[in-house]
Amino acid sequence: MLQVKKIVGKLLSSNMYLLYEEGIDDCYLIDIGDSSAIAEGLSDGMNVKGVFLTHSHFDHMAGINGLCRMFPECKVYTSECGKDALYSDKKNFSLYHEQSVVYNGDNVKVLHDGDTVALFEDAELYVMATPGHCPSCLTFYTDNYVFTGDSYIPEVPVVTKLPKGNRALAEISKEKILKLSKVREIMAGHDKDNWTSMF
Ligand SMILES: [Zn+2]
Repeated sequence: MLQVKKIVGKLLSSNMYLLYEEGIDDCYLIDIGDSSAIAEGLSDGMNVKGVFLTHSHFDHMAGINGLCRMFPECKVYTSECGKDALYSDKKNFSLYHEQSVVYNGDNVKVLHDGDTVALFEDAELYVMATPGHCPSCLTFYTDNYVFTGDSYIPEVPVVTKLPKGNRALAEISKEKILKLSKVREIMAGHDKDNWTSMF
């Protein structure tokens, strides 16, 4: 059965989620803001096969090169415009923060609304485009969980003031997420209590 462990990164306290099953070494991540926090959070022998990016703001992807150094085969799943931003510190906004981040690999798999990715024999990850916070936003969900990134953080208004943000789209996306969350637990990109970022 799919297990989920939350790991909070140092960079703007963004949340990452480890998806794994008991007795299986292969595992997956939702977002990678901080690769050292992941290195600490993994058990011995675990192998990160892929990372799913909820969107391309730097606080959700800044650890990507560190992660891919530890796991060179790790696939990076993102949307079409998320892929662009992996290679542009202007588009992922890291240029305007402390340190520029540009992905130095090319193991990218582009996902679209409606896609399904098999994680384990009994667990699939479903992909839903949820633009608004930014155009690259994807929400991922399983039978029991919905990983929203910054498209929806409970009790925090969705940030749409950044370049390419869109309030009307964000509202539509939020409604879709709320529908899913009726029977699933929400795993957001930040927690209300330590949410300090406008990104
Ligand atoms: Zn963001």
